[in-house]
Amino acid sequence: MRIDVVSIFPEYLAPLDLSLVGKARASGLLDLRVHDLRDSTTDRHRTVDDTPFGGGAGMVMRPDVWGTALDGLLGEETHLLLPTPSGELFTQRTAESLARESHLVVACGRYEGIDARVAEHYRERVRVTEISLGDYVLNGGEVAALVVVEAVARLLPGVVGNPQSLVEESHGAAGLLEYPVYTKPPAWAGLEVPDVLLSGHHARIARWRRDTALERTAARRPDLVAALPVDELDAQDLAL
Ligand code: SAM
Repeated sequence: MRIDVVSIFPEYLAPLDLSLVGKARASGLLDLRVHDLRDSTTDRHRTVDDTPFGGGAGMVMRPDVWGTALDGLLGEETHLLLPTPSGELFTQRTAESLARESHLVVACGRYEGIDARVAEHYRERVRVTEISLGDYVLNGGEVAALVVVEAVARLLPGVVGNPQSLVEESHGAAGLLEYPVYTKPPAWAGLEVPDVLLSGHHARIARWRRDTALERTAARRPDLVAALPVDELDAQDLAL
């Protein structure tokens, strides 16, 4: 997969050299390129913004500068992602769908955002999705780009060492939050690891994990429990 990220702060994307994403890049599983939007400007001040038509506070990113940057990156297969607090919520389902794409471009807004004609114009050429990380406002789209790259890249085959770790995760196929996890030592700060996890009894451990995942999800995210397909619940699930 190839991902291009365009930003006025390319240094903000430096963490993408680290950890699993960094390794995926080094091994060629992920072709990730970060571009400076200011390289697409033509004036000596490398201006990317201007005052909003209609008045009001703040500055708006110019469509012509974004046009130059994006025209050089978009191909027929590109899915253009525009982070914005007014976009569709980015979820694990979005990440799973994007992980099946061959080329993503993430355009990081700043100031009051990107001139609305950019989304409108590119919708006629490629798939465009305006995505929101959640109901709050960040200073720029770079954090959203980091989130998208990390969530998508870990789903690419070969990026996470043991693919089984992707199966039982929160927001995975089971639709639940993950059960609590523990490691050594078995007792710490007066707190003991649940006996069942030390029993070596695989069926009982699996049942405990399922029960605690259900209880935790019900307590923290009742909306997820309500969305579970009833025909996928077993008798013991229903008894909880
Ligand atoms: N004036 C915009 C509004 O009220 O919707 C907010 C602009 S925000 C200060 C600047 C940039 O940060 C946006 O263009 C977007 O790229 C990014 N951003 C801010 N909050 C975001 C969120 N919740 N999800 C995704 N991107 C966000």
